[in-house]
Amino acid sequence: LTRLYAPLTALAGARVEVMSALVSFERVFEILDLKPLIEQKPDARRVPEGPVSVEFDQVSFGYPTAEKVSLASLEEVATLDDRGGATVLHDVSFRAEPGQMIALVGSSGAGKSTIAQLLPRLYDADAGSVRLNGVDVRDLSADSIRDTLGMVTQDGHLFHESVRANLLIARPDAAENDIWDALRRSRLDGLIASLPDGLDTVVGERGYRLSGGERQRLTIARLLLARQRVVILDEATAHLDSTSEAAVQEALAEALAGRTALVIAHRLSTVRAADRILVVEAGRIVENGTHTELLAAGGRYAELYRTQFERPSPEEKRPVQPVR
Ligand code: ADP
Ligand code: MG
Repeated sequence: LTRLYAPLTALAGARVEVMSALVSFERVFEILDLKPLIEQKPDARRVPEGPVSVEFDQVSFGYPTAEKVSLASLEEVATLDDRGGATVLHDVSFRAEPGQMIALVGSSGAGKSTIAQLLPRLYDADAGSVRLNGVDVRDLSADSIRDTLGMVTQDGHLFHESVRANLLIARPDAAENDIWDALRRSRLDGLIASLPDGLDTVVGERGYRLSGGERQRLTIARLLLARQRVVILDEATAHLDSTSEAAVQEALAEALAGRTALVIAHRLSTVRAADRILVVEAGRIVENGTHTELLAAGGRYAELYRTQFERPSPEEKRPVQPVR
């Protein structure tokens, strides 16, 4: 039920009518998958032009708990405003300047993915403010957030649509050439070309079943194709085998150039290259600095670096954080 109650609460307000008209929870999920954003204000703005800064200002957040949510009544769930869940993020503050790459590290369950999810408003903060170019994400339009923010996660979320449609979400006007270029760079061109329906092959739950690694590469292709100014990578290469990982890492590094990036990384090379590293522990940022600064400080990062990252090369290829 973890999956169920959290997004339901996120629908507070605007979608109450839609919700009560629904017949099954399965259908709810379909709609949630297509419209993960919380309600949009009538006077919602667009993210200001130009390179984008990302800012968390004293953000606290807790997922809603099962006890607080009565599944008997969707209206009740939708109007629930007392989230009351255990606090997962405590007073998180940081700023990524336009074009910077920020790495989030820390043990599994520390809150890294939760931080990432507040940016596209999969959830809203309980306190504090999350801003893109100085504008609180709650004041931005859903379209503008989608145009601004690209995200690749461990799960490689896809729509039950053709490969082409899944890629064009990122850039509707992309030419056939651009699509194949993105697929080539994410090492997926061979597979797609070999399918009877090629780019028109429907993927997803009830379509052609891609492996975890293939799904992840398709979402990476989407990111490469898109022109979004902010990129979030949440263990974006966790499911790739070692033959494709190096190539895909290279394509990703290229894709990050000139964009603002929040990278939840399991690879030392990515973390070291970051402009700033945030160490997250039990929902708090406990250290914030460059690789050199944090190593010199001899604190938590130095410890993580020794235990997780400083390994002989065959080991370094493995995801450091266990898959949640
Ligand atoms: P990380 O990405 O650093 O491994 P997460 O942000 O996924 O950590 O998790 C932070 C905390 O929030 C953990 O205690 C986790 O169990 C909890 N959590 C994550 N997702 C949910 C959810 N959808 N509902 C309730 N609790 C969650
Ligand atoms: Mg995570």
